[in-house]
Amino acid sequence: MKTSKGRIQRHLEQIAQFTATPGQGITRLSYSEEDKLTRAYLKQQMQAIGLSVREDAIGNIFGRLEGVRQDLPAVMIGSHFDSVPNGGMFDGTVGVVMGLEVATLFHLQGLTPYYPLEIVALVEEEGTSFSSGLLASRTITGHITTEMLYQLVDNKGISAADKMAQAGFDAHRVAQAIRAPSSIKAFIELHIEQGPILDQSGDDIGIVDVIVGICQLHVTVKGRAGHAGTTPMNMRTDALVTSAILVQKINQLALEGDGECVATVGKFQVFPNGANVIPSKVVFSVDIRAKCNKTLQRLVTQIKQVVIQQADKQIECLITTPFYIEPVQLDPVICDQLQKNSRQLGFSSRIMASGAGHDAMVFAQIAPVGLVFVPSKNGLSHHPDEWTDYHQIQKGIDVIFETVKQLTKE
Ligand SMILES: [Zn+2]
Repeated sequence: MKTSKGRIQRHLEQIAQFTATPGQGITRLSYSEEDKLTRAYLKQQMQAIGLSVREDAIGNIFGRLEGVRQDLPAVMIGSHFDSVPNGGMFDGTVGVVMGLEVATLFHLQGLTPYYPLEIVALVEEEGTSFSSGLLASRTITGHITTEMLYQLVDNKGISAADKMAQAGFDAHRVAQAIRAPSSIKAFIELHIEQGPILDQSGDDIGIVDVIVGICQLHVTVKGRAGHAGTTPMNMRTDALVTSAILVQKINQLALEGDGECVATVGKFQVFPNGANVIPSKVVFSVDIRAKCNKTLQRLVTQIKQVVIQQADKQIECLITTPFYIEPVQLDPVICDQLQKNSRQLGFSSRIMASGAGHDAMVFAQIAPVGLVFVPSKNGLSHHPDEWTDYHQIQKGIDVIFETVKQLTKE
């Protein structure tokens, strides 16, 4: 009895129904109505295959198959079920469905693991609602406090803590969501690649050995508003003109990094944002990534310098660093095991870096971690047309199923 492509497809198609933007991709924000529907579906599926189901203080869902030895650490598998606005139906969800399929096979084959098996569906990986990604894994590893959940707000000014309360969760109990390192034997995530490498090489499976480090900067440029018709050009302090120069310079700095790093200004807000008003303030984000921490630090320093240097008597430039995570090496033993299992199943695989952040990189702080990629058609992701063939997803799950069977053995 093997993994079932039909079952995998049915789960994915069903979960894709839970979107706030039907016909325009998947929009599933944490603690939304769509989150609630997905949550109910996942819990019901987990119960149907005999797992004991629980949700932690912030809404992560766990389905546990008890091991022969209940006192031993669990092998944990899964991914996140939130999405970006108008995203695709595979990002995150394939890893959640992987967990369901692996646990289903244990159930159907009557396998009792020696070590407990836990499948997990994580909230708020994308950081869409509160501009704070990897929230679930950072909570589980003890980096998030109740106070922080009150400070994080969505674009309507509602805090993460209040959003959680509305959905029936409790930010005050966030400490109870922390998992001791001794309770997790290994964590394995399946994810779509979100880039073009596997699609172009024709390989079935990507086995990630390193996840890039990520730094996010938040830049505020302040000038002075004025009438677009009556203020002479030489008497303006235009925050947008300064910001446009900065965007160019940041791009140039990353280009000079010889492919070792990337930098993106992806969020850009102009105030007051009127057609006949000189912009008084601009707020923008910079996302900087590199495989090597030294390279990452160097580029971050260069970008900060360029921003500071752009300030003068009239223009004020402020920078904060809401997010910095160093590059993470994943577990070489699990990497090896995944590669061997791919080979034995007759799949072609390649060792690769992940340019995207994943919960796996946070779990790596407390447990040995493996991360498996399946190809993204044309490298497309965070887009309604995001696509991975079901038989490719099935191959990824086959490899993880074999690996989980080994990891949960005595
Ligand atoms: Zn994802």
